[in-house]
Amino acid sequence: MTTPTGVAPEVVFRDGLAAGELRFQRCQACSAAVFPPRVLCPGCGSDALSWQRSSGRGAVYSTTAVRGRDGAHNVALIDLDEGFRMMSRVEGVAADRVLIGARVGLAVVEQDGQPVAVFREERS
Ligand SMILES: [Zn+2]
Repeated sequence: MTTPTGVAPEVVFRDGLAAGELRFQRCQACSAAVFPPRVLCPGCGSDALSWQRSSGRGAVYSTTAVRGRDGAHNVALIDLDEGFRMMSRVEGVAADRVLIGARVGLAVVEQDGQPVAVFREERS
């Protein structure tokens, strides 16, 4: 994927979501997967970061049920197959029934007029 120059990483990421893509960066110097999007690699400090499109597939690393006025919702850390971790939520299952290690896939939903990346358990 070509990297638009002069565009803030957050914007590239958000534009990706709007197109239904989960984008992350790969450091050309040390090969680390970089997320959330940033200007410099947190591992080696290089600014040679290229954009890649994630498969959107991964596994639940940790999960928490958060109770609020409107009931419980889930907050989860997802380990994507490309080697980065992101905070999101798992939908389609009770907030306290999300299993660590469960395979999940990306779904882009609209929330307050913005595209948001959430995950759903994969049926095997
Ligand atoms: Zn690096």
